Amino acid sequence: MEKHTYILGVDIGGTNIRLGLVDEENRLSDYRKVPQKEILQGEDTLESLAEYLKQYLADCAGEKEVAALAAGIPAAMSKDRSTVWNAPNIKGFSGKNVLKALQPYFPFPVFLEWDVTMLFYYDLYRYQIPHRDIIIGCYIGTGLGNVISVEGKPIVGNDGAAGELGHIPVWDKTDICGCGNEGCMESHVGGKYLVELQRSTFPDVEIHDLFSKKGDTPEIDRYLEHLSLPIATEINILDPAVILLGGGVLAMPGFPKKRLEQYIYKHSRKPYPAEHLHIIYSENQGENGVLGSALYARENL
Ligand SMILES: [Zn+2]
Repeated sequence: MEKHTYILGVDIGGTNIRLGLVDEENRLSDYRKVPQKEILQGEDTLESLAEYLKQYLADCAGEKEVAALAAGIPAAMSKDRSTVWNAPNIKGFSGKNVLKALQPYFPFPVFLEWDVTMLFYYDLYRYQIPHRDIIIGCYIGTGLGNVISVEGKPIVGNDGAAGELGHIPVWDKTDICGCGNEGCMESHVGGKYLVELQRSTFPDVEIHDLFSKKGDTPEIDRYLEHLSLPIATEINILDPAVILLGGGVLAMPGFPKKRLEQYIYKHSRKPYPAEHLHIIYSENQGENGVLGSALYARENL
């Protein structure tokens, strides 16, 4: 029998850390979802993470041959994906060379990437999208995550900071974004905005029911048009072959996908790229980040 190799895939989220072993056929085993605070403990949270992962391998890997560790992180990182500049939701990572801290604990390569890039890799695999041409991914959760892939390679930019679609400035807006700038798009299209809208305008429904119960209101319609603007902007710049849309906001019950598509079409340049919009919706499951991390590692090994 052919011996399998495994990737230890890790998805480091603001609330939970998910991990598992993934073989060449993308089968996941020994999957765990653990509250972040149970793993990132003490003064040196990188050391506690490394110790946790070593113990996990001792408990679960057994005779399995592990070829790499790949971790998705919701954070701005250096171009070489070693140093985390700013990770407000991940205890003890900001300003640290995470790669240098973790690598000595393991006899195989360690890879770090943006969490959205890992989700993007999983979506390419799951929807059998050839990894070539220009493909964009927009993931609308608390903020607006973005991946731009050109000829099979995600664009990282000069400083590792490309794809900050959520932080394009909006004309005439002066509210302060989490990044410190005024009037970023993310403040008007991300999940945080919806929470505010529900509190201020629709206190009679739970946030979960916002689209299913208030989807036909002018406020939600305006939201959908606003959300279409950064997506259509990127489409008009790049003329992508495929547009992946995903994230927690789109997964909410009753999210009006058709109307969002109509607005994306409305704001895309005619006849092209508007007449060739190829939109694929990403269905979010908890393990996507772990599986995507493994796919990313295999491509980069
Ligand atoms: Zn911003």
